Amino acid sequence: MKLWTHDRARFPLPARHRFPLDKYPLLRARVVADGIARADEIHESDPVPWPVLERVHDAAVLARIRDGELSVREERGLGLPWSPALVDRARRSVAGTLAAAHEALERGAAMNLGGGTHHAGHAFARGYCLFNDVVAALGELRATGLAERALVIDCDVHQGDGTADLLGADPHAFTVSLHGARNYPFQRVPSDLDIDLPSGTGDPDYLEALSGALDVALRRCTPEIAFYLAGADPWEGDRLGRLALTKAGLRARDELVLDRLLGAGVRVCVVLAGGYAEDIRDTVDINAATAAAVAARQTAQPGRGSAVGTV
Ligand SMILES: [Zn+2]
Repeated sequence: MKLWTHDRARFPLPARHRFPLDKYPLLRARVVADGIARADEIHESDPVPWPVLERVHDAAVLARIRDGELSVREERGLGLPWSPALVDRARRSVAGTLAAAHEALERGAAMNLGGGTHHAGHAFARGYCLFNDVVAALGELRATGLAERALVIDCDVHQGDGTADLLGADPHAFTVSLHGARNYPFQRVPSDLDIDLPSGTGDPDYLEALSGALDVALRRCTPEIAFYLAGADPWEGDRLGRLALTKAGLRARDELVLDRLLGAGVRVCVVLAGGYAEDIRDTVDINAATAAAVAARQTAQPGRGSAVGTV
C-alpha cells in the first residue's frame, strides 16, 4: 500500500534525547521487509504550504516558529531545540497526514508513517508538537470540499489537548481521547469525550473502554472521515506511558478502531503519534503491526478491483 514518511528530514538533537528520531527510518525499512509496502510505494512528503497551517494556527505563533523566535519558555514547553530543519520536518509531517487523508477517502483506510502531533493547539506548540497535522489536514479537506464532518480517535497515551483546543467549539468535529489519567499534559483542554485510565490498565479494561467510547462517538456524530492516532506509548514497556497494554492488546486496539469505523462507513486516516520504548525496535514492532492492519483493510483502487464502493 502507499505510505508517507519524512524520515530523512532529520534535525539536531542533544545526545540521549527521548525523541525517537531513528524510529522513522527503521519503520520504513520494516514495512518494506514485512511486505506491507513496496519501497516505491513509500512517498517522501514535501513541506506543507504555510497557508494550510495558517488556517488553523495563530499567525503570531506561526511567525515565531518560522523565524526561530520562540521564547525560552515556549521552546522548553516544546521539548525540542528549534532549528530550520525541525520546522521543515514538521511541515513534511503535516503533508504526509494530508496525503494519507486523501488516500483514505479513496481507499477506505490509509496511513502516514508520522504525524499525530496532538499537543499543538491554536496558539501553542508543546510536547514535541509544532503543528497539529490532523486539524491542518482536516482544514484542507474542508477548504477543498472533500469532507466536512470528522471524528478524532486519539489512542496515544497522552491526552490530546491541542486537538481539543482546536476542535472543541467545532460543531462538525467530535474528539475522543483515551489516555493515562496521570500522564502529561497536566493542564488539560477537554475533548468532547475524555477517557482517563488508571495507571497499569491492561488489555481487557482498555479494550472495553475503547469499545464504549467508539459506541458513544458513533452515536453522537456522523463523520465522513476519522483520524486515528495509533500511539505506541500505551505499551507496557513505554518509558513515558503509565498503561500496561501488550503488543497483542495494541493490535486488538487497532483492529477494533479500524473495523468499527470502516463498518460504519467512515474513512480512516491513521497517524503514528508517540512511542518511547527503551529499545526503539519495540516501538517499530507496534507501528508496523498498525500498518499491517491498515493494509489488510484497504479496498482496491477504482477500476482495479471488485471491492470498490463496498467500504
Ligand atoms: Zn504520547
